[in-house]
Amino acid sequence: MIPGSLLFISMLAASGGDVIHAQQEVAGATLTIEIRQPVDDEKAEKLIEWLCDTARLVNQAYGRFPNPAPRIVVIPSARNSRDGDKAVIFGRVTRRGQETVELFINADRPIDEFYSDWTATHEFSHLMLPLLSQRYRWISEGFASYYQNILMSRSGRYTPELAWQHIGDGFGRGEASRPELTLNEAATSGIRDARMKIYWSGAAIALLADIQLRQRSEGRQSLDSVLGQLQQCCLPSSRRWSGVRLFEKLDSFLDKPVFMPLYRQFADTRGFPDMQPVLQSLGIRLGSIEAALDNQQPLSSIRRAIDHSIE
Ligand SMILES: [Zn+2]
Repeated sequence: MIPGSLLFISMLAASGGDVIHAQQEVAGATLTIEIRQPVDDEKAEKLIEWLCDTARLVNQAYGRFPNPAPRIVVIPSARNSRDGDKAVIFGRVTRRGQETVELFINADRPIDEFYSDWTATHEFSHLMLPLLSQRYRWISEGFASYYQNILMSRSGRYTPELAWQHIGDGFGRGEASRPELTLNEAATSGIRDARMKIYWSGAAIALLADIQLRQRSEGRQSLDSVLGQLQQCCLPSSRRWSGVRLFEKLDSFLDKPVFMPLYRQFADTRGFPDMQPVLQSLGIRLGSIEAALDNQQPLSSIRRAIDHSIE
């Protein structure tokens, strides 16, 4: 049974085939969901339930979905790619008109695999920031990569140990990716092989900001609360923002800036933020599959507040 009051599924004519259409109230938002064919009705119902559950999971950042009326399009894809066996092959956000999350899926995969796949959480997390220009892609991808892991942990889809292992592994991959480039250079057109730098340098900045916010406010503020204020004032936004404008806006919610000092320290600096001492202070020791977590380190309680192993 799908929770919510507004669910209706109907077959609508659409160019290129039928679409299963549903509307669902979740986390203060009305999700308009389209499931392209071929997907049988039973699987479609399970996919709708999964999307609603994932929207509720994103709700755990600041208590509501970042866009009150997003469109979500699920597209079965028969692409023969190296990811072809994954439940969700890839996703993206488009912002022409209504903000839309597109998820290309392998409809044959069991529904359990959709719940353990991070892609939908990543794409939904993108909605917590406005569209940023290309140069600042490291911020949009980085914040989504950070949130995809901590939200999967908060919801119980990942253990905290797995979430932090993914984050720590990501930092390692980011550090190895094009170290001669600055963060602002990494997403410049024509630059190759900088994908991991783009995805994980911004995640490192998100973690550094989150720690500072929690430390200086003794837990009253966090990246969650600041992004909640951004949503309240400015989202969804039809404009393309610069990273500087975004960080200045986030700082405007604070007594003392956090984001622009991090920007000035790292955005035009080569290499990658040194995250090893930070992980150590948080009590995270990386393993091969899951991190070992230590509650006796100086920032252990902040780590647990981030992953919600303590509220
Ligand atoms: Zn992304």
